[in-house]
Amino acid sequence: MKIFGALVQHTMEQYPRIRIVNLYELPKDDNPLYARRMANFPADRSDMSIRAILPKVVNQPHGTLRAFADGNFPGQYITTAHAENANFHYAIVMVVDVAEMLKPLLQDGSPKIEWDIGDMPIIQLNGRQNSAFSFELQLDRTIVSSTPNIMPDDSTRFSEKTVFHLSETVKLYELFSLIGFIVYCGLSTIAVVASYYALHQHKLSRRLQRSEGKALKRAARLEKETRLEHAARVNAVGELAAGIIHELAQPLSSLLNQSQASLKSLEEGDDMAQTDFLRRTMTANIREAKRASLILGRIRDYIVYKSASPEATELNSSILDIVEILNPEIKRQGVSLTLDLAELSPVASINKIEFEQVIHNLIRNAIDALSASHQTRKRITIKTLVDQDTSIVRVSDNGSGLSEDTLGQLFQPFFTTKDSGMGLGLSLSQRIVERVNGTLSASNKNGAVFTVALPKLDIAPMSALSTAKAA
Ligand code: ADP
Repeated sequence: MKIFGALVQHTMEQYPRIRIVNLYELPKDDNPLYARRMANFPADRSDMSIRAILPKVVNQPHGTLRAFADGNFPGQYITTAHAENANFHYAIVMVVDVAEMLKPLLQDGSPKIEWDIGDMPIIQLNGRQNSAFSFELQLDRTIVSSTPNIMPDDSTRFSEKTVFHLSETVKLYELFSLIGFIVYCGLSTIAVVASYYALHQHKLSRRLQRSEGKALKRAARLEKETRLEHAARVNAVGELAAGIIHELAQPLSSLLNQSQASLKSLEEGDDMAQTDFLRRTMTANIREAKRASLILGRIRDYIVYKSASPEATELNSSILDIVEILNPEIKRQGVSLTLDLAELSPVASINKIEFEQVIHNLIRNAIDALSASHQTRKRITIKTLVDQDTSIVRVSDNGSGLSEDTLGQLFQPFFTTKDSGMGLGLSLSQRIVERVNGTLSASNKNGAVFTVALPKLDIAPMSALSTAKAA
């Protein structure tokens, strides 16, 4: 035992990495509880933690060496031997300091080493903090030892499940020359700036393309709108002119005819007959001239949206005034006119001239519809009545009536189915009637029926007119 002690002490002096060596004698059944400590180095050390390892030692086959890590011995590994001779069994436990063992290797610049045994990190040496940017490259390598070492005579292998993580740091200037490194950095910077610039230019040109596209579309739309607006204006002016011509043609041709007839009569020389004829002609001329000015006023009102002030208007007398104006045309077209007027004329608060424009327009439309139809017994009926709070005028004809399509657009300005129509009559009439809170509606009943409904005005009419029949 003395020799063993001297040997161990000598070895520990030679190899300072060997920290502890304990020798135990075991009973024949290897029960670690009855292990007797024969020697321990250093001598004054408690062997509690070493005894805790004994169950592992007795489990290893006799005559084998084993190396492993243990949580109670950080930074160290333990080599154990289980031996026997004829009479006794022994356990030897040796604790080796890894840092001490690797010391000669770990000079400045040597690799960083992590040494794990099993899952246990045994040691980490030369570890360096990694900064965010470094002129150094970290090269990592992991080595795992293969078979656990269980052969008694094999002491060259590593401990069981040993893992070495080796990482070496290489300085960048070791890869490049200094000039090369500067050139590399310069080129990289230029490349980054160039890529950024190209990207920026690309984005800019796409944005420009997009706004250019939008501007082109907007310009095209504006051009189209302008053209349409211009076309609409040209159309409206054209239609207006056509309408004025159409409306004025008739009174002007009457004025012309009657003036020519008067001239002829003057040339023939019968004084009495001339005077009488001239009086009648002049009266008719004045009437036609008034009508022409009424038409012009109506067109002007439509254009400038001028509204005349309402007044208490006897509807029957206004209707009769218009009938008188239109009678020659009614006769010329072979139309029979029936006046079915309420005995007591309805009165409404509406400008007389404007109301007459409405009635004139409805009768003119009826005449036009009948002249275009193949109806043999052409008839227009004008009826007035009072229904509760409403004064009603109904103008109907037995022409071809109103188609679905026409009914839908009748009151829209410039809607017309006539070659020389202006399409303003009904829209203007509706506007006049609605301005005094009335309505103008259209329907079909053996032809077209137009109904003007005005709020009744409760004042005594100037004269009571009875149902009359004209033409
Ligand atoms: P215009 O007489 O210039 O056409 P209006 O606004 O007075 O304009 O009438 C619009 C259209 O309504 C007419 O072109 C015609 O198609 C239709 N219309 C009006 N009155 C009648 C009617 N009594 N019978 C059939 N169609 C009518």
